[in-house]
Amino acid sequence: MSFLKGIAASSGIAMAKAYRLVEPDLSFEKKAIEDTAWEVERFQTALSTSKAELDAIREKANVELGADKAAIFEAHLLVLSDPELISPIEDKIKTEKVNAEHALKEVADMFISLFEQMDNDYMKERAADIRDVTKRVLSHLLGIQLVNPSMISEETIIVAEDLTPSDTAQLNRQFVKGFTTNIGGRTSHSAIMARSMEIPAVVGTKTATVDIQHGDFIIVDGLKGEVHVNPTLEIIARYEEEQICYEEQKAEWAKLVNEKTVSADGHHVELAANIGTPNDLEGVINNGGEGIGLYRTEFLYMGRNELPSEEEQFESYKAVLEGMNGKPVVVRTLDIGGDKELPYLNLPKEMNPFLGFRAIRLCLEEQDLFRTQLRALLRASSYGNLKIMFPMIANLDEFRAAKAILEEEKQKLVSEGVNISDNIELGIMVEIPSTAIMADQFAKEVDFFSIGTNDLIQYTMAADRMNERVSYLYQPYSPAILRLVKMVIDAAHKEGKWAGMCGEMAGDETAIPLLLGLGLDEFSMSATSILKARSQILRLSKMEMEELAEKALQMSTTDEVIEAVKALSEKVVSM
Ligand code: PEP
Ligand code: MG
Repeated sequence: MSFLKGIAASSGIAMAKAYRLVEPDLSFEKKAIEDTAWEVERFQTALSTSKAELDAIREKANVELGADKAAIFEAHLLVLSDPELISPIEDKIKTEKVNAEHALKEVADMFISLFEQMDNDYMKERAADIRDVTKRVLSHLLGIQLVNPSMISEETIIVAEDLTPSDTAQLNRQFVKGFTTNIGGRTSHSAIMARSMEIPAVVGTKTATVDIQHGDFIIVDGLKGEVHVNPTLEIIARYEEEQICYEEQKAEWAKLVNEKTVSADGHHVELAANIGTPNDLEGVINNGGEGIGLYRTEFLYMGRNELPSEEEQFESYKAVLEGMNGKPVVVRTLDIGGDKELPYLNLPKEMNPFLGFRAIRLCLEEQDLFRTQLRALLRASSYGNLKIMFPMIANLDEFRAAKAILEEEKQKLVSEGVNISDNIELGIMVEIPSTAIMADQFAKEVDFFSIGTNDLIQYTMAADRMNERVSYLYQPYSPAILRLVKMVIDAAHKEGKWAGMCGEMAGDETAIPLLLGLGLDEFSMSATSILKARSQILRLSKMEMEELAEKALQMSTTDEVIEAVKALSEKVVSM
């Protein structure tokens, strides 16, 4: 039995067997071979086992994930049957008398570098296919099992170094009961996805992949940020009770699903949800979301081999707008970069991807991609209450340039006779300190702000949101952050605009009293946090929170702020 402490990333308690999603070591030595016929046969066997395995994966992906995802494996099967790749490997084994592993790697590497150098996206994708397939054949030659999360067919908890957003998107909710990772923080995208999928998660344990073996029975406590490995029967019984308590608590909150969010002294705020795909809508409705405060459209672009078409995007946006039935839907234009990669764009690796060529910076340069998305959005606008927001805006020039492109596409569509809403609000995410500081200027030109604290905190504190070693600096309650938030809200109100927040801070129990006091109009969070937040706000007085916020802004440390909120919460609970 052992115990790991990490960061509570998605609430709830999960108990199941561990599934280690860890890249295996596929290293080998070059060897001289006497019996080359036997070596060729060994290679052929590895090839056919790989084909059979890929066939099964393709079938399963087709049924569970759709033809789109299955097509990736179809391409892999084609590579395995391509004589232009296979024959040179066999020739190499025979003529150079080397082991199959070495021949395979040499030939595959030659094709990979050839394809990667080509100025052709299709060929570059083939390089990625060859790399994947080589790994599979190599694993069979070495007798090592490759992990494959899409083949999971029993209840499991994923244990990994980290999960990329696209890994997370491929997890099957039916079987994956929770996950725990070595790295990451509360605002890494895998954690955000876990919350929207309602699966408990503990991230940043540092050593989960070392301390947990495949098949160990583990408990992931996403409320306290703890992982128990092979726990005693006593601990299991305690958690079974806690699970029941948590369900009872959720049932209490569920009674608020149709209530408005009004403070104890009558001030209304809007509680909206953050979503990644139209599939998340059901959770928003079930949790009483008053709107969508952030639709992260980049998930439409991930887990596939090419850009989504205008039509496909239009259908997704329309589905969300119709599903929300006239309630506000804030759609954020593509925010790729940082920990959200799109391999098929073949962007060069950067030293500091969070500070690099991403989000609106990329969209302003790759205008075809941006215009396609804007057209899809504009066309969908007549199906509901659409608001468009640009991510990672650093200065007014960027906002003006993006707005001008939007206007151009609007004019084109109007002249084509397309019906477009004449009431689309246009806003920006405030994620970069320069924009918070200049909020008074922006407020004259935008319709609203949505404060993206996940990034705003990392850029203000110079502390990577994914790095648990600097998580002590990554503090939403820091007076520095509160002052920036205040600047943004005040600037919006001065111009008669509204200010929302869609960073994870908006759903944070300790931050909510402060944000209410600072005058935030819209709180957008994981759907699963909405009812809890509503139950909290119903008990708070806006006037008292204004006093609290005023004091917090003058405090010198984060701990003082936390203490002040705690003292007040105890008072509220005992009232
Ligand atoms: C943010 O930065 O706060 C935000 C909501 O955007 P993302 O988490 O997708 O970077
Ligand atoms: Mg962001």
